[in-house]
Amino acid sequence: MSTDTAMPPDLILPAAVPPRRTRQAVVRWGSHALTIGGDAPVRVQAMTNTDTVDVIGTAIQVKELAQAGSELVRITVNTPEAAEAVPHIREQLDRMGLDVPLIGDFHYNGHRLLTEYPAMAQALSKYRINPGNVGKGDKRDRQFAMMVEAAMRWDKVVRIGVNWGSLDQELLAGLMDENAARAEPWDAKSVMYQALVQSALGSAEYARELGLNPDNIIISCKVSGVQDLITVYRALHARCDYALHLGLTEAGMGAKGTVASTAALSVLLQEGIGDTIRVSLTPQPGEARTQEVVVALEILQALGLRNFNPSVTACPGCGRTTSETFQVLAKRIDDHLRAMMPVWRERYPGVENMKVAVMGCIVNGPGESKHADIGISLPGTGEAPAAPVYIDGQKAMTLRGEGIADEFHKIVEDYIERRFGTPP
Ligand code: SF4
Repeated sequence: MSTDTAMPPDLILPAAVPPRRTRQAVVRWGSHALTIGGDAPVRVQAMTNTDTVDVIGTAIQVKELAQAGSELVRITVNTPEAAEAVPHIREQLDRMGLDVPLIGDFHYNGHRLLTEYPAMAQALSKYRINPGNVGKGDKRDRQFAMMVEAAMRWDKVVRIGVNWGSLDQELLAGLMDENAARAEPWDAKSVMYQALVQSALGSAEYARELGLNPDNIIISCKVSGVQDLITVYRALHARCDYALHLGLTEAGMGAKGTVASTAALSVLLQEGIGDTIRVSLTPQPGEARTQEVVVALEILQALGLRNFNPSVTACPGCGRTTSETFQVLAKRIDDHLRAMMPVWRERYPGVENMKVAVMGCIVNGPGESKHADIGISLPGTGEAPAAPVYIDGQKAMTLRGEGIADEFHKIVEDYIERRFGTPP
């Protein structure tokens, strides 16, 4: 048997995520700027579901999404009244000291709104143009050009956002005809993929001909199937160097939407594809709109691409944990860390990298707790009623009695202050 202790090469390090090589766009608002693409971190985006005409309601939801971690927020601009509301929403956000850029989502009448409401065109930081919804026939190019000209006039970034639910039907019909004339026609799905990619890249090419700086172009081609999304984005990645916005459209509700989005985005992000992401969850009754942001952050954090919140490792529990104590404590710590992050992000730089373990019994409890920055191993069924606490890999103390949860909470807060607080 070999005594060579070297690890096999394929086990030394996880497969590295290839560096992204896209152009870099700069989204600006007031004196602020946010980079997208190139070597910028993968950005998180969300969209409001309020009526944009409701200035206060929309500003409040934008604030909630931004505080949850969304770095850009898109709002619908669908009517003259909504267009008039946009500068007031921007003012409200500025008054609240909220540094988040607004994206305008345009369909059908964006060319008119962006031309007739210059204050709205200026207040937005980025325009989303859907090439399938800018007009038909000879109006299409003219109306698309009006929107691109507004972007150039106000120096805005444009996302050319294709969606297979609103794909340019004339383009699709033309590609279908071409396909039918082939000696060996492609399957219908391949023609659909081709239409999505061609709609996006053809529109980008036209925008450049009109004079739009290619750095100010971001592309997306959203579909609702996981494998379809992966196929389309691999093709986009191979064919262009524009920054890419990723998202599974109409992902659905709850576990289905979360898992489908995670599956699709993870494959692509691991391949270095994707510069901004959005998780298009349908909120369940009573569920906060911010859930889509929570999922997006978790995807990036789970992949090790960015850290936003301290992570809480908790075991699933089993027959060794017949009480709910450790579940309650794990949830309490997780909820508290998330709730405090908007404040702690400023006060305790680096706290987002902290790892906390809350474990249910002695089997994996001490080991997992030692791997964390701070961990507690609660007593399982039949164990002595004592909970050892580990700090920086060393056993620091043992908690006993009814007040374990409160005491551990305090220990975590003291640790954060000691380790991440600014020295006086
Ligand atoms: S650590 Fe203990 S309680 Fe938790 S899953 Fe493992 S054996 Fe069960």
